[in-house]
Amino acid sequence: MTRSLTILGATGSIGRSTADVVLAHRDEFRVEAVVGGRNALALAETAKRLGARFAALSDESTADALKEALAGTGIESGAGRSAVLEAVDRPSDIVMAAISGTAGLEPTYASLKPGRRIALANKESLVCAGAAFMADARRLGVSVMPVDSEHNALEHALAAGRNRDVGKAVITASGGPFRTWTREQIAKADAKQASAHPVWSMGSKINIDSATLMNKGLELIEAHHLFDLEAERLDVLVHPEAIVHGLVQWTDGAVTAGLALPDMKVPIANALQNSARLFMDLPRLDLAAIGRLTFEKADEARFPCLALAKAALQAGGAMPTILNAANEIAVEVYMADQIGFYAISEIVESVCSTMVGSGNAPATVAEALAIDGEARAMARRLVPAKRI
Ligand code: NAD
Ligand code: MG
Repeated sequence: MTRSLTILGATGSIGRSTADVVLAHRDEFRVEAVVGGRNALALAETAKRLGARFAALSDESTADALKEALAGTGIESGAGRSAVLEAVDRPSDIVMAAISGTAGLEPTYASLKPGRRIALANKESLVCAGAAFMADARRLGVSVMPVDSEHNALEHALAAGRNRDVGKAVITASGGPFRTWTREQIAKADAKQASAHPVWSMGSKINIDSATLMNKGLELIEAHHLFDLEAERLDVLVHPEAIVHGLVQWTDGAVTAGLALPDMKVPIANALQNSARLFMDLPRLDLAAIGRLTFEKADEARFPCLALAKAALQAGGAMPTILNAANEIAVEVYMADQIGFYAISEIVESVCSTMVGSGNAPATVAEALAIDGEARAMARRLVPAKRI
């Protein structure tokens, strides 16, 4: 049976891989709507390739450019917040939520509609407002399928037993481009070096988060909400080959793990399809050819963002929202070459410690965005006039 699909963040890294999966299975999916940020030509191209019915950009000023780029195709379009929300409101069985950052929170949350499936790539939605998001998803009967490779692996590994029999659920990290660098070398690294990820090809924000290991910290918070596991039962393991993505250690000593070659099309196909499998014409995992897999502990001294995220998860309340917001600003100014690498963690730490005791976990998107805004403003005030 053909299912309808809406893709949020259609022009990004996950969005493009989703398009590849859909185009390989044209008879299985019909694309209702595609959403992007501000690139009219790229979104129009995607909408045409996928035969979407509606295309929306969040940047209001792009309305005319998008209309022009889609002229004569019969594809409707719009721009601005209301157009993005219209895309989300249109009937579709599945929403791929792949906008990057907190910008994805409102549209991802608005995607929660009775009976729908949400393929969730936008981990920031869960970090920012995870308790409210998961509670609403459960109430509305929405199935949330993780696209993040580690969580997709855990989703299946956890299905092998009961939540209370989980000793630890472990997500792996490739370690990023600076895994073997000294602290002194890392301190001098610029955004270009931080973006040179050894394994995955991804969007710019998550690339920097992978270099600081904040990505893994955000993923611990994501796992906490997705799988109802407290901080003590979650852990990180560095695994440079990125073949084992997630492991569950059961209370009897057994371990169930999820393995795959590192290609986001694998978890994307899985999140779109769930229990049945889509055929994907991709290279197969050949463990004999790989020969050896290696693992090591994460070094929180060289990667303090991981420790900060763990502390935010432990603290709970509004702290993960604050951590995430401060990190987005710090990453943005690092990418603009305004601060050095370790100023990212310094800014995050400073905002988190100043805002300690900022109250309960947000119960609504509006509450999450209010806390987010406050933490962003504070982070911006900490950005030095001169590069540090
Ligand atoms: P990306 O930067 O490549 O793409 C982001 C997409 O969001 C683009 O289509 C952009 O146009 C759109 N966008 C940006 N701001 C928007 C706004 N305000 N409104 C509407 N659309 C907007 O990012 P990505 O790497 O594809 O990551 C997307 C999400 O998936 C992130 O939350 C990331 O953490 C998560 N994720 C990515 C990967 C990966 O391999 N790339 C893996 C796991 C999880
Ligand atoms: Mg991941």
